[in-house]
Amino acid sequence: MTEKLYYTDAYIKEFEATVLNFTELDGKYAVILDRTAFFPEEGGQSADIGFIGIAKVLDVREKDGNILHFVDSLLEIGASYYCKIDFSDRFEKMQCHTAEHIISGAINRLFGLDNVGFHLGKYEVTMDVNGYLTREQLDEVELIANRAVFDNVPVKTYFPSSDELSALNYRSKLDLTENVRLVEIVGYDLCACCAPHVSYTGEIGLIKILDFEKHRGGTRINIAAGYRALYDYREKYSNVLKASALFSEPQPTVAVAAESFLRSYEELKARLKAARLNNARLEAELIPCTEGNLVCHYPEMTPDEMREVANLAKSKVTGVLVILTGGDGDYKYIMTSESVDLSKIYKQINASLLGRGGGRDNMIQGSFSADFNSIKEYFAKL
Ligand SMILES: [Zn+2]
Repeated sequence: MTEKLYYTDAYIKEFEATVLNFTELDGKYAVILDRTAFFPEEGGQSADIGFIGIAKVLDVREKDGNILHFVDSLLEIGASYYCKIDFSDRFEKMQCHTAEHIISGAINRLFGLDNVGFHLGKYEVTMDVNGYLTREQLDEVELIANRAVFDNVPVKTYFPSSDELSALNYRSKLDLTENVRLVEIVGYDLCACCAPHVSYTGEIGLIKILDFEKHRGGTRINIAAGYRALYDYREKYSNVLKASALFSEPQPTVAVAAESFLRSYEELKARLKAARLNNARLEAELIPCTEGNLVCHYPEMTPDEMREVANLAKSKVTGVLVILTGGDGDYKYIMTSESVDLSKIYKQINASLLGRGGGRDNMIQGSFSADFNSIKEYFAKL
């Protein structure tokens, strides 16, 4: 079995190790070392990355007590290699993971809910709890979590004896009574966990609860801590800065300005729609009384406006009234008639004018790919 260096010291970035086994598994090279600081994918946390010699470590998994390092090139069995983990990636995860313990501990203590899911990926940290929480409750949790950071309390890990263990009250209780690794955030949380954590809570930096949503009868909470909270703040700050300049509004009230802008935009949209519909009615009045079919082209009309024209003017045309919008190659049409049953002929019309469409109540809507002259000539002869 591989010696797990990350159990004794979460800060080991470089180490020497000997290759015990090297195999090809699922088209990838899998390496087993005598000792490793690479933490495998476990409990929702993605694996460490880095190098073994010049071989790049792409993924790390635990299988039957062995830690399998999946690498991109060949390594020699029996040889020793200098190994290096990507510690900036690892340290971000240690910050987020320790933050998760503090948050879960606070939620458990305040609201009696348990953590039932955790995901710590490259960009996102989510945790699931088995009950509903409000923003106010999460604000309270967030404040406690940051107080734990400012208190800079130690984070201790230990393997208690089974007697000691049975006397302890801790989160993530398993059926195991031996080799249970406890992580204690002094004064804040006690939980069974095998991942690497920071040594003092002050190393976590800011803990921010971002959004949350209902998820499978409970709450999924999205958090950011440490460097990731900084990156998140940077991104959001630059967005608020931009929005503040666009709306000429101070940053703290930029959402109020956006709301008021949106309200006036919706108002203008409604007024424009009414004015355009009125214009369509005027166009309908201008349509002359016609013997036979009539094709009218309005390049910029919406379907609602075309329907208005068709309804108002159909009685002026003894044959078929065709309202077109768009341009050559892509006309949208509405056809209507008081005398001709369009349901019997629209398929033939579509076929002749490279069109498609359908409808009911003797109003057919669709599109023609034919050009304007062909459409006009076709209806002149129909
Ligand atoms: Zn943990």
